[in-house]
Amino acid sequence: MSPIDQTHDPKLSSWVPGADGHADFPVQNLPFGTFSPPDEAPRPGVAIGDYILDLQALVAARLLNEAPADVASILATPALRKSLRAQLSRLLTDPRYRAAAEPYLFATADCTMHLPCRIGDYTDFYVGIHHATQVGALFRPDNPLLPNYKHVPIGYHGRASSIRPSGVPVVRPSGQTKAPDAETPTFGPSRRLDFELELGVFIGQGNALGQPIPIGEAAGHIGGFCLLNDWSARDLQAWEYQPLGPFLAKNFHTTISPWIVTPEALAPFRAAQAPRPDGDPKPLRYLWSDDDQAHGGLNLGLTVTIETAKMRELGLAPHLLSQSHARHMYWTVAQMVAHHASSGCNLETGDLLGTGTLSGPTRDASGSLLELSEGGKSPVELPSGETRTFLADGDIITLQAHAEAPGFASIGFGACSGMILPAR
Ligand code: MN
Repeated sequence: MSPIDQTHDPKLSSWVPGADGHADFPVQNLPFGTFSPPDEAPRPGVAIGDYILDLQALVAARLLNEAPADVASILATPALRKSLRAQLSRLLTDPRYRAAAEPYLFATADCTMHLPCRIGDYTDFYVGIHHATQVGALFRPDNPLLPNYKHVPIGYHGRASSIRPSGVPVVRPSGQTKAPDAETPTFGPSRRLDFELELGVFIGQGNALGQPIPIGEAAGHIGGFCLLNDWSARDLQAWEYQPLGPFLAKNFHTTISPWIVTPEALAPFRAAQAPRPDGDPKPLRYLWSDDDQAHGGLNLGLTVTIETAKMRELGLAPHLLSQSHARHMYWTVAQMVAHHASSGCNLETGDLLGTGTLSGPTRDASGSLLELSEGGKSPVELPSGETRTFLADGDIITLQAHAEAPGFASIGFGACSGMILPAR
């Protein structure tokens, strides 16, 4: 696990206007991403308050001594990540650097964010035990969790080509569905379009094909974290998912927050993994590490808001749909990594793992509309007087995450947003 050092000091103050106390990006965070200044090419940058600092320009100006070619190389090289973090912390807090560095600071609002790096492969897990239980109960009231759940981190191989950064609109998918009382399926726009509140985990250093990653080394292969919305067409999913699992219901678009929050930034916010309830099986040895159980969790609060077209018309603020927490993961991120590679599967730099929907045990902590609306039976009421069971065209869903720990400056992940566009 990463140590806590002077870069986490809550008393650090940045010369960048508005950075101190920023809800997401105070100087204690320093997340990396790929951005374009207006009419310029993409390049790696670091978020500070409502600004982005251009890393390559800092190297050219001799304000940084290492040139990260791209965000993938930052992910893959823990020593580079740590060295950049230490240098950037000094640069952004010591007012003597202000005049030299300020020309390379861009207002985030003027810039375009891209995917942080090329994502070669994407895997989605299912470690949110309350989601697995609640969704399971909709289909199997007497036996919500399948017998493998507490032994093996369940996952499936997803689609990397349709992952987009926050802000890119989501076209409602069309597909094949069959109503329970219909004899034959039909093809058309999904009528049960949903979101899924998830964390994304970026692989830093990969492993060679045939060479598993021991659980004790798994955390060291994680290069960073983001938010992930695994948009899901529930009606397509219900018809297509047996026997091989999700396919077109989830491959049409996945949204991630564009900033990679590093394991180093999250050091003060590590937590013990919640103990397994009495009677749960102890995981097999390749998934068990005392150190991971002691520090492998995250103190990370999660929220979902919705803003409909009518709410925008009426000037209403986005409405809080649910509040959850990363503690609802039954398996740690290190267990996800160790399990993924246990077959000898090679993980590569920039591969993305989703945790699965992170719902809490109560309805107001639901990480999807499927749970919030109890399978479409209980519409959610909105301040505009509208109701939702599933998403309507024009709806904007925004995921947010904030890490908190007593005695430390809180840091956030930035928004993970997408607006639903009509089917084509
Ligand atoms: Mn998912």
